[in-house]
Amino acid sequence: MKKVLSVLLTIALVLAASLAVADTSYTGTADSQIGGVNAVTCTVTLADDGSIVSVTVDACNDTPGICDSAVNTIPAQMVALNSINVDVVSGASMTSNAIIAAVTNALTEGGVDLTALSEKKEVVVEKAADEELTAEVVIIGAGGAGLAAAISAEQNGAKSVIVVEKMPKVGGNTILAGGALNAVDDRSETAIKQNDSVYWHYTQTIKGGDYQGDPELVMTLVSNAWDGVQWLKSMGMEFNEDAIFTVTGGLWERAHKPVMPCGTGFFDTYTRYIDAHSDVIKVMLNTKAEEITTDENGRVNGIVCTGETGNTVTISATNGVVVATGGFSKNVAMRQTYDTIWGTLDETVKSTNHEGATGDGVKMMQKLGADFIQMGNIQLLPLGDPVTGSLSGNIEHNVETRVFINKEGNRFCDEGGRRDDMTNALFAQTDNTMFIVMDSDTYPTGDELNNFGETANQLVEAGRAYKADTLEELAEQIGVPADALVAAIAEYNRYCEGGDKSGEKDEFGRSLFATPIDNGPFYAAARVPTVHHTMGGVRIDSSCRVYNENGEIIPGLYAAGEVTGGIHGANRLGGNALTDTVVFGRIAGQSAVNGK
Ligand code: ADP
Repeated sequence: MKKVLSVLLTIALVLAASLAVADTSYTGTADSQIGGVNAVTCTVTLADDGSIVSVTVDACNDTPGICDSAVNTIPAQMVALNSINVDVVSGASMTSNAIIAAVTNALTEGGVDLTALSEKKEVVVEKAADEELTAEVVIIGAGGAGLAAAISAEQNGAKSVIVVEKMPKVGGNTILAGGALNAVDDRSETAIKQNDSVYWHYTQTIKGGDYQGDPELVMTLVSNAWDGVQWLKSMGMEFNEDAIFTVTGGLWERAHKPVMPCGTGFFDTYTRYIDAHSDVIKVMLNTKAEEITTDENGRVNGIVCTGETGNTVTISATNGVVVATGGFSKNVAMRQTYDTIWGTLDETVKSTNHEGATGDGVKMMQKLGADFIQMGNIQLLPLGDPVTGSLSGNIEHNVETRVFINKEGNRFCDEGGRRDDMTNALFAQTDNTMFIVMDSDTYPTGDELNNFGETANQLVEAGRAYKADTLEELAEQIGVPADALVAAIAEYNRYCEGGDKSGEKDEFGRSLFATPIDNGPFYAAARVPTVHHTMGGVRIDSSCRVYNENGEIIPGLYAAGEVTGGIHGANRLGGNALTDTVVFGRIAGQSAVNGK
């Protein structure tokens, strides 16, 4: 009897518990434009009244560091608003869309009526009080140059540093970069073996920029590059030590490759340092600088920002303000105004850049009478994703092992050449489209990661790359004439014999060759021209001080990174942009502390 009673009691308790907790969970997946097929898996739990109890992102193949802000924000918003119709997170829109789609799929597949949950709810943000802050050094922009400047300012004695960043996350364009960083250690065996030197880096940078780069700035860049790598390593950043390579348009084997994908290694490193020095360095996200202020003598003394809730945040800078706002590749109107190279860079031409690359720093410094140089020098790459313009989905590992094939199945340029020459050549091809083609020398298994943390096999599965045992099959998959492709590769392979860099040049003037493309399976992926880097900008000296239009220094104002001009000239070498952020970011931080 006792036993029966206890069993009945247990059943009653279980029933009561299940009645009280009537939540139901649904799991779904969705593709992402970054992570590919089924990149995101989410679980959404509804209460018995149909309201959202929780949303979790169980898996996300998008690049860590780039997708984090969406993963952290979208689920919380869905719960707070009890709606799946939420706004995407600026700067992480693709991951946001994938999370929203995974949640929608989960509920739809679970047979849930979405009418109520799809209602758009007003996000009520209470405006916080206006704020007034002071720091020795104030930095606008938490991209590569801005965070390097913040750390350098602290290391050079600043007791207070404030970085404002308009986006909900740090990283800017730098975090989206391929990660290649050019630097030469003159005394290393590698440099001797590669016939490289700081002076050769200098010469190639100056010549590659059509002699428009300021020699002093270029010398500052190349001669501090290796020290920059040591600085990064001193903060714990890891590089793939044995993988010095030639990045596209880099012209020489001197690019260092961080272990972490894209530019995420820089921000992992910088953020760890900043967290450990949070008594000095404060980073304010969602805070947009609107104006740089000056005192009655014309010395820059602070900034005025719009804060997260629309409030005004005024920050005084006792020593200096560093502008590190990046470029304007995402500002179509500015592109069209300044471009002197391409004819048109309207919205049909995509960009690799993040949403925040809108030229704010240019506009703010124009109001101070700053001098701008070479604003028409806008760099495009021939390596954009056909849908998004982003660099992700790029299957190449280095210049020496791949070719570009047009829709007719032919090669059309020196794939080891300058970025502008390659992009111009691509604009002349059918649909401005090409396929990067390589073989299994690059991908012995297909599971090797590209610079973006994606494997070739994942890209093939996602329909963003192609893989075939023979060139004929590959030609069929990508829709080009097989005989033309086979002939083009055979002709290319003739020049690969010996893989000697100093060997004969081919009909396009290519001199960088490695092993022939003859080891199946073969791989291909489509690419289009994409706006990448605005090389013109504000004129600085080698201490990162900013000139006005009369050739005088604007006291208290410093600039570093893509917002500056005169370093890369008419064509930036691949791998020099990250070097630029590290070298000039560090200098700007140091100069700003000194306030000179
Ligand atoms: P760089 O390579 O020169 O460091 P990035 O693009 O990496 O350039 O970083 C520039 C950063 O500046 C981006 O994170 C961008 O969102 C930020 N930024 C641009 N304009 C403003 C602004 N008005 N206020 C605050 N941050 C800004």
